Amino acid sequence: MSAYYTGTPETRIGAIRVTSLLDGWLSLDGGAMYGIVPKTLWEKALPADQNNRVKMAMRPMLVRTPQHVVVVESGIGHAVPTDLHERYGIERIGPALDEQVRAQGVDPADVEFVACTHLHWDHSGGLCKLVDGKYLPTFPNATYVLQRGEWEIAINPSNLHKASYTPESLKPISERGQLKLIEGNAQVVPGIRYDFTAGHTENHAVIWFESNGESGVFFGDLVPTISHVPMAWISAYDINAGASYHAREGLYPNVMAANARCFFYHEPGYPVGRMLRDKSKYRAEAVG
Ligand SMILES: [Zn+2]
Repeated sequence: MSAYYTGTPETRIGAIRVTSLLDGWLSLDGGAMYGIVPKTLWEKALPADQNNRVKMAMRPMLVRTPQHVVVVESGIGHAVPTDLHERYGIERIGPALDEQVRAQGVDPADVEFVACTHLHWDHSGGLCKLVDGKYLPTFPNATYVLQRGEWEIAINPSNLHKASYTPESLKPISERGQLKLIEGNAQVVPGIRYDFTAGHTENHAVIWFESNGESGVFFGDLVPTISHVPMAWISAYDINAGASYHAREGLYPNVMAANARCFFYHEPGYPVGRMLRDKSKYRAEAVG
């Protein structure tokens, strides 16, 4: 399989269909992406470019349950000015997320709910799109179900958070009355729920899919790529690496017990896998 996977695979979790989309690519410093892990180890997983950056995908998801159409995560969309694209190695694909959803046979007007693990711009930038120089919700009829604490930081970021959030690209969601704020563990729709982890951000939550006894889990940036599954392979971008470690300690046994399909947002290769455990060590492998 190519190191850089460009497909949009569909995974079945019971009666739920999860389609991994591709908003584009992002290249971030490899040392930062792998935190305390030495380069001699991480470069075997993801090779660095001449600027020591690793190239990663952004893979929003179209999730169809028997009752509802939901979009999870949104890519960068139009949130980051193009003059910053070179710094972050941003290569976008296609016009906006709604067109990607349409390409999967779903009218964007029929998307009913949107959820996000957190609101950093590489995850939330596609929640709205630019139309004639103004941001508008990408899905005009959707309710955006988001974590209250994450929203409050994103809309009014302190100096600590400023570089990570793009509030102007988010505000139209509340201005248009499409925002529903929830706190902690909460259901998005039947079969899709938030599992609060913190760690990567103060209010980060992973998202579970559950149907007919089968499970899937979307890790957001708690575990951004398959290579980040080992317990200590935690990104230096995490605002609280210790909390990320503890969240993984709580989460991984549940992932194993449920034999959950695992979805990795930034994985450059095939983005769906399963978790494996050798004695006390966790890893994952891609599964088609
Ligand atoms: Zn990210």
